[in-house]
Amino acid sequence: MLATTLSEPDIDARPAPDAAGLSTLLGATRAELAEALAAIDVPERERRMRVGQLWHWIYHRGATDFSVATTISKDLRARLGARFTLARPDVVVEQISTDGTRKWLLRLPPSVSDPRPHDVEMVYIPEADRGTLCVSSQVGCTLTCTFCHTGTQTLVRNLTSAEIVAQLVVARDRLGDWPGGAANPDGEANRLITNIVFMGMGEPLYNFDSVKSAIEVMSDGEGLSLSRRRITVSTSGVVPMIERLGAEVAPMLAISLHATNDALRNTLVPLNRKYPLAELLDACRRYPGLSNARRITFEYVMLKGVNDSLADARNLVRLLKGIPAKINLIPFNPWPGTAYECSDWETIERFSDLIFRAGYASPVRTPRGRDILAACGQLKSATERLTARDKAAIAAAMN
Ligand code: SAH
Ligand code: SF4
Repeated sequence: MLATTLSEPDIDARPAPDAAGLSTLLGATRAELAEALAAIDVPERERRMRVGQLWHWIYHRGATDFSVATTISKDLRARLGARFTLARPDVVVEQISTDGTRKWLLRLPPSVSDPRPHDVEMVYIPEADRGTLCVSSQVGCTLTCTFCHTGTQTLVRNLTSAEIVAQLVVARDRLGDWPGGAANPDGEANRLITNIVFMGMGEPLYNFDSVKSAIEVMSDGEGLSLSRRRITVSTSGVVPMIERLGAEVAPMLAISLHATNDALRNTLVPLNRKYPLAELLDACRRYPGLSNARRITFEYVMLKGVNDSLADARNLVRLLKGIPAKINLIPFNPWPGTAYECSDWETIERFSDLIFRAGYASPVRTPRGRDILAACGQLKSATERLTARDKAAIAAAMN
C-alpha cells in the first residue's frame, strides 16, 4: 500500500526556508529558477537569460554563493541573496575507505511539508577509467528484498529532485571536481565523477517524477553535463514504470534480477509476486535504444546455497537470451541479523566462468568500501544507525 502511494509525489518539494527565512536554489530546475526570479520581480522578458546565467554558475561552476556570479548585475545578486541561498545539505560524516571509496552521510534539511531532517548516504567509487557516484532516491525503501539491509529500514520518504541533484553537487564540492577546483586546477573540466548509478537507498521507480527531473538537471549539457548513457537507474522490477523510464528519460537500465525462477524470486524480491519474471523480461526487451553498445545490466547477488548453482547460471543465460545484456555478479554483503551468506569464491568463479563462456564479459563486481559499510545493500542512514556491536558482528562475518 505504502509503496503505491509513494509512487506519487508525497511531499511539497519546495525546501523550507532556513532560520533567516532564506530558501536554497540548489538542485532547482530551470522552471524553478524562473519562478524564483519572478518572485523577486525580474521582468518576464529577462528571465530566460537570467536563468541561463544562474544555471551556468550553479551547475557548471559550482558556485556556493551568488556573490561570485559576476556576469549578473550587483543589484540582482543582492536581491537574490536577500531571498535565496545556494546552501548544500550538511555532510555529517565523511569516510574514506582503504581502497579510495568515499562515503558521505548527508543531512537533508526539512522541506515545506516535512519538518523532520533526514539522513541519506552516497558513495563515490573511483576506478581506473571512471568515477562512479552511487546516489539515493529515497530515505529507506518500502520494498522488502530479504537480502537487503535498506529494506529493513522502517522510515521512508521520497527525496525531492533537488535533493537528488544536491548529492552530485556535494560530491563534486568534496572532490574539488569543478572547473578550477582541486581536481581541475587549470580550469578544464576533467571530471572525477563520470558516472551516476541510482543504486543507493530506495527504489528509484517509486519516486519517478523526482528521479526524472533530477536526471534532466544532471544531464543538461550547459551544467552538470553527465550524459544519460552514463546515468544508470537500477530497479527491482517496477514493470509499468520501466516503460515510462524508457519513453520519458532513457537512461541506462539495471535490473536487480537475483533469481531465475518465480518461486525463488518471490522470496528474494517480493515485488516479483506483482510483476513476475516473464513480464519483467518483456519490459526489458521493449526498452528503447538497446544494442550491443547499449545493454541492460542484470544484477545478481551471490547467495550461498540459494541461487549460486551451475544450473542457476545456465538458467540465467537461457533467460537473458536475445536481450543485449551485461551480467553483474555481486558478492553478497552481509549485515547484522541477515540469514544469508555470501557464496564461496570458487562457486562465484565457476558461475562466472559459465557466464563468460556464454559470451558475457567480466561479470564479478569486486566489493568496494567494505571497511566503511559502503557496499551494495549496506547503505542505511543514521536515522537507524548501526551500533558498535553490529559493526563488530559484520567485521567478524567478513573475516
Ligand atoms: N532499489 C533498487 C536500487 C538500490 S539497490 C534496486 O533494488 O535495484 C542496488 C543493488 O544492490 C541492487 O541490485 C540490490 O539488489 C543490491 N543489494 C541489496 N542488498 C545487497 C547486499 N546485502 N549485498 C549485495 N547486493 C545487495
Ligand atoms: Fe529496496 Fe532495492 Fe533494497 Fe529491494 S534491493 S529493498 S528494492 S533498495
